Amino acid sequence: MTEELKLDGKCMCGAVQFSATVRKPSVVACHCDMCRRWSAGPFMAVSCQNVTFAEDKNVSRIRSSDWAERGFCAKCGSNLFYHIREASDYQMAVGLFDDQSMLRLSLQVFTDFKPAFYEFANKTKMMTGAEVIALFSSHSD
Ligand SMILES: [Zn+2]
Ligand SMILES: [Zn+2]
Repeated sequence: MTEELKLDGKCMCGAVQFSATVRKPSVVACHCDMCRRWSAGPFMAVSCQNVTFAEDKNVSRIRSSDWAERGFCAKCGSNLFYHIREASDYQMAVGLFDDQSMLRLSLQVFTDFKPAFYEFANKTKMMTGAEVIALFSSHSD
């Protein structure tokens, strides 16, 4: 049985606040080019359900691909989420959560896009871009 956690978070300036439920407190780090342009380093996120924003008006959304959008705070620019438009889950940026004590880095994706200048010491599952795309398309059919 999985226990659901309820987590709260906010952006750097506090204009965006949200609550969400989390089934697995595991963090995914994405090393792809787009995420690194967006976040400076890998984008690290937790898959969240029932994401509710206290106020929607400061949540800016940009359509980053045909299937996904990314959110950021309209006031301070903090990255908020990656969201596949047809999914109910949001990949919420891990730095937003008030309590991060239960989180574990469990997966790194697009490892073949990672530049050579950094390397996580954490032992995690690793997936290349091709492996992620293969998994994703087998799920969405
Ligand atoms: Zn903000
Ligand atoms: Zn990425």
